Amino acid sequence: MKAPSPALLQQFAVIVGPQNAVTGAAELEPYLVEPRGLYHGSTPVVLRPGNTAEVSAILKLAQANGIAVVPQGGNTGMVGGQIPDASGAEIIVNLGRMNRIRKLDAESNTVTVEAGVILQTLQEAADAADRLFPLSLSAEGSAQIGGNIATNAGGTAVLAYGNTRDLVLGLEVVLANGEVWDGLRTLRKDNTGYDLKHLFIGAEGTLGIITGAVLKLFPKPKGRSVAFAGLASPHQALRLFGIARSIGGPNVTACELMSATSVGFLYRNAPQFRDPLAGKHAWYLLLEISSSRSEEEARALIEEIFVKAFEDGVAEDAVLAESLQQSKDLWHIRHALSDIQKAEGGSIKHDISVPVASMPAFLEEATALVEKMVPGCRPAAFGHMGDGNIHFNISQPVGADKQAYLARWDEMNDAVHAIASRMGGSISAEHGIGALKRHALPHVKSGVEMGLMRSIKGAFDPAGILNPGKVL
Ligand SMILES: Cc1cc2nc3c(=O)[nH]c(=O)nc-3n(C[C@H](O)[C@H](O)[C@H](O)COP(=O)(O)OP(=O)(O)OC[C@H]3O[C@@H](n4cnc5c(N)ncnc54)[C@H](O)[C@@H]3O)c2cc1C
Repeated sequence: MKAPSPALLQQFAVIVGPQNAVTGAAELEPYLVEPRGLYHGSTPVVLRPGNTAEVSAILKLAQANGIAVVPQGGNTGMVGGQIPDASGAEIIVNLGRMNRIRKLDAESNTVTVEAGVILQTLQEAADAADRLFPLSLSAEGSAQIGGNIATNAGGTAVLAYGNTRDLVLGLEVVLANGEVWDGLRTLRKDNTGYDLKHLFIGAEGTLGIITGAVLKLFPKPKGRSVAFAGLASPHQALRLFGIARSIGGPNVTACELMSATSVGFLYRNAPQFRDPLAGKHAWYLLLEISSSRSEEEARALIEEIFVKAFEDGVAEDAVLAESLQQSKDLWHIRHALSDIQKAEGGSIKHDISVPVASMPAFLEEATALVEKMVPGCRPAAFGHMGDGNIHFNISQPVGADKQAYLARWDEMNDAVHAIASRMGGSISAEHGIGALKRHALPHVKSGVEMGLMRSIKGAFDPAGILNPGKVL
């Protein structure tokens, strides 16, 4: 792809207005680095369109001139998909200004939004209308709904409500040639040919720029109870999850596993967090029960679950939140685990999923393997146990050279991914492929799958201007 000339950059700036075309080095910087600091790109301009017509005009001009475009939302993505390469030729289209909630229809339980609406803003709008938008993740204060859709984000409510894919009813997308596909349908049933929206969901900005979406809302639970339990092993966590499901059924709305190392990093580096349990345990499980009827029902269910868990010797200790604030505090511990790992030096990350029943075996095998590969390394696993999805992140040995440790990223990934694959798992449960795992994709997808994906890319973006070098 060629770099845009100064004259062409001028034309792009006219589309969004010069005040929305960011060019100064200092102003560009926040758009060029991602949360993990693994990718640092370069760009001549960040365009911040204010409406769909402007996005359309940008892509029309980009395609006509062979200019590569990187769509960007809240820049919280974990695989570098939202960052341009280092060539300085790719332009960024950031959707942040398109942040209007167009319509909330409480009766139909739908909400129509622009792509740049911040996830937390949407949650709050749903809440104000006595509804629930269930997607929730630690980056919800910055991540945008367009980015959530483009990555098919998972998060902590998948167990009860599904991935982002399950929450989308319709999309508005600008295609690579600037054409606008208005698929903002609000229907729950619609079997009229290929369901195109599903191609854009999880495509990580390689097939089109999402500008709007119709999303499902749900009744707001009337009661929620949260427990934080200390356990001896992931095997006991699996047993506790089983007890919770058999007693709570669909009322179990979250089940998050945390290793002692991962929460230990938090207590050591962020003293405002306090261990809610008196003693030390090897593993911790956060369990959430929701009730559509009452606080009392949620409380009664979670108490019944823990009576059984103690009877069966599954849980070593547990605290049940006594108030909304205590529930929030327990969730806060879980949500802070991702960021705090930075304080412990280099961390080699994995976002794997395996069948839920294989989680203990995966953790045992993968831990033994990485400890053999890098003696002294510190596996700090945490994640969405109820979905069989764990962030198997491994911090460097204390005092080790960070760069030398991170140089082993691919080697360690290959070894850990091989275990997940052997167990029928995935090497990217929820973060996507982006730039980080692109090289690994052909190893986990068949030739048939890779061929179909390349055909789809070719059909939607024949000139290859949309997020080149990502996914495929
Ligand atoms: C602390 C922390 C915790 C996280 N926890 C989770 C978690 O639990 N579950 C989870 O799934 N993810 C999680 N993530 C990852 C991240 O938050 C999600 O991937 C999120 O969906 C990205 O949204 P974003 O707006 O930041 O997108 P960006 O990071 O800006 O972009 C991500 C990808 O989507 C594309 N994209 C963005 N907007 C559009 C658009 N409008 N149209 C087309 N393509 C677009 C980009 O090109 C890029 O490929 C976490 C990240 C952090 C930092």
